[in-house]
Amino acid sequence: MLIENGQYNIGDICTSRQCRLGRGDRVAMRWLTPGMERRDYTFNELDGLSGRFANVLASLGVGAGEVFFTYLPKQPEQFVAFLGALKLTAVAGTLFSNFGEEALLDRLADARACGIITKKSLLRKIIRIRPQLPDLRFIILVDSDDHQADGIFSYSRLMAEASPAFVTPLTPADAPSVLHYTSGSTGKPKGVLHRHGAVTMINSTAQLVLGLREDDVYWCTADQGWVTGTSYGIIGPWSMGVTQVHFGGGYAAEQWFEILEREEVSVWYTAPTALRMLMREEPLLFARFDLGMLRHICSVGEPLNPEVIHWARRVLAKEVYDTWFQTETGAIMIANRPGIPVKPGSMGKPVDGIEAVVISTEGELLGSGQQGDLCLKPGWASMFSSYLNNAGAYASKFRNGFYCTGDVAYRDTDGYFWFVGRSDDVINTAGHLISPFEIESALIEVHEVAEAGVIGAPDELLYEKVVAFVSLHLGYALTDELQLKIRLHLANKLSSVATPHEIHCLERIPKNKSGKIMRRYLKATYLGQDAGDISTMEE
Ligand code: AMP
Repeated sequence: MLIENGQYNIGDICTSRQCRLGRGDRVAMRWLTPGMERRDYTFNELDGLSGRFANVLASLGVGAGEVFFTYLPKQPEQFVAFLGALKLTAVAGTLFSNFGEEALLDRLADARACGIITKKSLLRKIIRIRPQLPDLRFIILVDSDDHQADGIFSYSRLMAEASPAFVTPLTPADAPSVLHYTSGSTGKPKGVLHRHGAVTMINSTAQLVLGLREDDVYWCTADQGWVTGTSYGIIGPWSMGVTQVHFGGGYAAEQWFEILEREEVSVWYTAPTALRMLMREEPLLFARFDLGMLRHICSVGEPLNPEVIHWARRVLAKEVYDTWFQTETGAIMIANRPGIPVKPGSMGKPVDGIEAVVISTEGELLGSGQQGDLCLKPGWASMFSSYLNNAGAYASKFRNGFYCTGDVAYRDTDGYFWFVGRSDDVINTAGHLISPFEIESALIEVHEVAEAGVIGAPDELLYEKVVAFVSLHLGYALTDELQLKIRLHLANKLSSVATPHEIHCLERIPKNKSGKIMRRYLKATYLGQDAGDISTMEE
């Protein structure tokens, strides 16, 4: 039984509870530095460290329900801080360490964040926006030995002064827990708020879909800035007492295979882009490694093309199981999984307790083979509880009693779901959802740019690439220098993943009569397709 005496606290379940169950000496985290050095943390250590961090936050005056963010690349302190904040019943938000100033400001301001943990090399960005963040009381630096002025503290000093003993308050299922921001095609990013009760669904899908068992060694390659990185890179496996490998380096085929072999990884959760990158490597590379311990590979974030499945069968002699979920659903909803034959190209079937349907724009239930909006019957445990400060956006996601995911799909006669695309203009590049609106807004901040329109175009490796169209003020041309200036601006403001792969110059950006950018028209023209009905286009 996962929930004892009504205690839903995720921080407690992932650490203290594992110790109460006698797993204290088991390795919780096998931390691998980018240079592949190994440092193991037992559940006892993780419990003590996160307890210390909860005490640190309490000493800084953080109260229940206040939002505290981690803004770090993958590193042990990030996990400690996340779990410590949850133990204290603060809301734990995670920020992708690649975010630029604008992306940070939007999120920190919207959440009225009280504090943030980061490192010296990222501090500059926070300092620049801090005057606009009156609620941000403190910043904790993981790599500073001393406290500084203006509420900037040293992690090691705070931790040394704090006790590892922390009694986690009894936390009900509905208490707010994790906060992630997600992009829409209009407006600012939306804060997706989760609840501690989500742990039951994350835990059960970790068992049923990822096939995790207590004695597994598990590796999830997702960044903790995104929902996969928290639901399945922290909560699911640790709520089961499973040993997780966390690697501080980026993608490198040989190193990844070395990790799988050396650490005897038995369950691996990764993404289609990574698998497609591996497909490009010489088959001889794979022959050098013994992946005998690897029992189960799952993928998430973008459509998994059948070629990847066939490649893995041929070269690795393994099956790859596609899984589907999104920030709002908190846990896997539709998946290929052990016991159900994989249909290459399909996302699989809804998991137990999930009712998935396809409905028309009018809200009518569609039969098998008919494409429409992928919707879910609300009520599952890990469903988001709100969009922070945006009740209107939350309400707009429901139609005829169903939660509309924003994806277009169809169901076949065997009950398998097939992903078709997004129903909005949100771009999915290498599993990162990017808002064209945010990029367009940042583009027109560049002095030379008059108007901008941004689309996602198909890409063999990334699934979609970001393509930007700009019109320039009179007298300017899209030179190499200007392209560079635009790219730097976007990387600084948003993130490098939001930086366009291509920038094209147009005389005018097509708009409809109410001034809305016609991305559909831009995309069709770019792809050499028929743009359909353009009667609403501006003359
Ligand atoms: P996010 O909320 O950032 O996790 O992104 C969720 C979105 O990523 C979904 O709504 C889909 O558009 C896409 N996505 C996630 N998993 C899959 C999958 N297995 N196949 C196709 N698209 C996926």
